[in-house]
Amino acid sequence: MASCMWFGQALLPDGWARDVRIGIADGRIARIEADAPPAAGEARYATAVAGMPNLHSHAFQRLMAGYAEARSGPAGDDFWSWRDLMYRLVGAIAPDDLAGIAAMAFCEMLEGGFTRVGEFHYLHHAPGGTPFADAAEMAAAVASAAEATGIALTLLPVFYAYSGFGAQPPQEMQRRFVTDLDGYARLHAASVRACSTLPDAVVGVAPHSLRAVAPGQLGALASLAPGAPIHIHIAEQRREVADCVAWSGRRPVEWLLEAQSVDARWCLVHATHVTPAERDAIAAAGAVVGLCPVTEANLGDGIFPAEEFVAAGGRIGIGTDSNVRIDAAEELRTLEYGQRLTRERRTVLASGHRSTGRLLVEEAMAGGRAALGAGGRAALGAGGRAALGAGGRAALGAGGRAALGAGGRIAVGESADLVALRAVPCDAGDRALDAWVFARGSVDRVWRRGVEVVANGRHHDRDAIATRFDSIVRRLLA
Ligand SMILES: [Zn+2]
Repeated sequence: MASCMWFGQALLPDGWARDVRIGIADGRIARIEADAPPAAGEARYATAVAGMPNLHSHAFQRLMAGYAEARSGPAGDDFWSWRDLMYRLVGAIAPDDLAGIAAMAFCEMLEGGFTRVGEFHYLHHAPGGTPFADAAEMAAAVASAAEATGIALTLLPVFYAYSGFGAQPPQEMQRRFVTDLDGYARLHAASVRACSTLPDAVVGVAPHSLRAVAPGQLGALASLAPGAPIHIHIAEQRREVADCVAWSGRRPVEWLLEAQSVDARWCLVHATHVTPAERDAIAAAGAVVGLCPVTEANLGDGIFPAEEFVAAGGRIGIGTDSNVRIDAAEELRTLEYGQRLTRERRTVLASGHRSTGRLLVEEAMAGGRAALGAGGRAALGAGGRAALGAGGRAALGAGGRAALGAGGRIAVGESADLVALRAVPCDAGDRALDAWVFARGSVDRVWRRGVEVVANGRHHDRDAIATRFDSIVRRLLA
């Protein structure tokens, strides 16, 4: 099915173009015409940007957004007390519940400008910890929510074995997450099957964190799915850094870079507490740092040294993590504001060269695209390859068909994952992105594979999804 749409301007890989008509066929961008006046009766939109990749989400945590802001005890709150509350609040989530909660989160992601989500999925087993007959029962619920809302999915099944460094046994509340390596291999294979009906799904590998995985297991996971994205939480908390040093004599990033050949396949989520040497080593390795500024602010994690990392050529992407708020512009704004507040300067990440909004959008699109298996040698939806994005058998498009390029770029051959920003006065070029990230700009429309899923800032199925979600909240949090 072919269609086309017209934009006053569009951000293309080599910069802004004006009066742009984008032709779409079979879900992909088939042609791009610049300096093309609109035809009579043709739908017109203001500013086109590619859909933003959301490289780190725990969709189930959307359930508790707003329900963890009361002080939990006299000792005060931190990441660890929040985690205990999270375990309690989400402990009863069944597969149908997860499908409804994830649909709400994915609906809001599309409304917020995201068109692909990296779902770091670790709620594997039934409440109480008993495995389901189908190891991927919960993963299938995530996939069904992706299908229902239209968002592209990079599923990252999580391996979780221990509660702390030195192979400490898991806590009671972690029983829903835990597998051994054989169980994980089955889970991973079942997850690939669960995603097989999604047209451009990618399945990666996700060791939860250094504290949850033994060193030998980490190597086994890295070789389980050659070429697939590998995501890991790392150095989010100072206590985690101290525990790692006590266990190994090394800081987490230092330890990981010594133990594994970390490269462009890897996404290091958070990496908040790094030394300058660790920061520069990540940049040199080509790994993406997955920043989740809104969640990191909400949890009081700390602030990643993004200015120096980006200046050193480091790659960053953004994620919504706990999903306490879901909005691409808010993540980018919070990232920049964290840098400004600690450095007492403005326009920190732009380095004075160009607009901060443009730099943030382009860096997060490129980094997110790479981290979610959409960049690099195997990407671009160029046709003919059955497994694009991450390569190899573990990263499958549907049923062996050629998967689409996964967005993050407006270019011929890419998946037609597009965001139209509303017009604001004087929004030529980069000003449209500065308005979106910092001021009154907003998402107007979103298309996934050329199909409109958001109009006037609302997902087409928002009402039904929200009604179902609200009933789940009332039942599980009452
Ligand atoms: Zn996370």
